[in-house]
Amino acid sequence: MKKIQMVDLKGQYEKIKDQVQQGFDNVLSSTAFINGPEVHTFQSELEEYLGVKHVIPCANGTDALQIAMMGLGLQPGDEVITADFTFAATVEVIALLQLTPVLVDVLPDTFNIDPDAIEKAITPKTKAIVPVHLFGQIADMDRIMEIAEKHQLFVIEDNAQGIGSSYQVNSETRQKTGTIGHVGSTSFFPSKNLGCYGDGGAIFTNDDELAHTIRGIVNHGMYTRYHHDVVGVNSRLDSLQATVLRVKLPHLDSYNQTRRQVANQYTTAFKGYEAIITPYIVGNKCDTNHKTTCKTCDCHVFHQYTLQVKNIDRDQLVEYLNNHDIPCGVYYPIPLHKQKAYQDERYQEKDFTITNQLVTNVISLPMHTELDNDQIEFITSKVIEFIEGK
Ligand SMILES: *Cc1c(COP(=O)(O)O)cnc(C)c1O
Repeated sequence: MKKIQMVDLKGQYEKIKDQVQQGFDNVLSSTAFINGPEVHTFQSELEEYLGVKHVIPCANGTDALQIAMMGLGLQPGDEVITADFTFAATVEVIALLQLTPVLVDVLPDTFNIDPDAIEKAITPKTKAIVPVHLFGQIADMDRIMEIAEKHQLFVIEDNAQGIGSSYQVNSETRQKTGTIGHVGSTSFFPSKNLGCYGDGGAIFTNDDELAHTIRGIVNHGMYTRYHHDVVGVNSRLDSLQATVLRVKLPHLDSYNQTRRQVANQYTTAFKGYEAIITPYIVGNKCDTNHKTTCKTCDCHVFHQYTLQVKNIDRDQLVEYLNNHDIPCGVYYPIPLHKQKAYQDERYQEKDFTITNQLVTNVISLPMHTELDNDQIEFITSKVIEFIEGK
């Protein structure tokens, strides 16, 4: 059996190697390293894939979030509501811009931001909500958009883990995550579902004016050369990364489908084990006949396959798996409201019961496009062995 990896970038690369190298050769011989045609072409291709009017590439997913917030004109002191259970980048940029992060709890099934908790946290200073489509599953965008409309708030979707996932917005239309709110962001970090071979990110919006503002912000606040109308940043996707992304984008749906198949194999193997809660999949918004085995449903793109364990020691399970050369992850081990950098005296533990529990009982198993049946079976058998031994 091949050595099991949390993410197998090499195996995936081997399959697209020729195209990537050809792309690299072209960029190298053109020397159009920054703002070259590859970046523009990738931008249009991603716009088409997502069905969104504007994609603005940038340097990474953290910048993408920050620039989205700058583009919306959020001002110091404005409150921005986001989930307590997410990667720190989301809250980091809020704080960096001197906005006030307001962390709220998540739902016990999807691990995504709890719309009721959002409503409770709204004050006259609230300006925006940042839902994160955690682990590749869409947050409750119906409720979130409804709340935002009612209170005149912006919605910034952190789609770093959800690219390719889509949502039934009404009986006729499915829309890709990241294009439902006022603005969306993503990351092309190598291990993401659409990853490049370095850093990269992008911002999405259907708003022409916002897109124009953001295009200036990513380029030092310039709308005309050497005229700096607003304070901007320098945040660019480079042409070599764009080349990799152009090669991978046509495979994204099949990559995500493979992830769903792996998830399905895991879930099937764990059926009937009381101690394991397998990932919940938002089914009610999907096409008819949705099942967890659904072949066409793409509401969950399994950036991570995350189990919850009941009445067993999660950390011992991690150790047991690691001892059998099975890597696994704990995303995330500490709630953001307990992180030194983001503590706030307004927070009360009773408002974070779900996150406080998740940090103790979640475990993410290896998830990537190159897992084979032997590996999946070895992983599930070791998890089950541990649970039965307890
Ligand atoms: C990866 C990630 C980011 C940051 O992306 P970078 O490209 O690493 O800056 C932001 N939010 C979430 C939820 C992420 O998973």
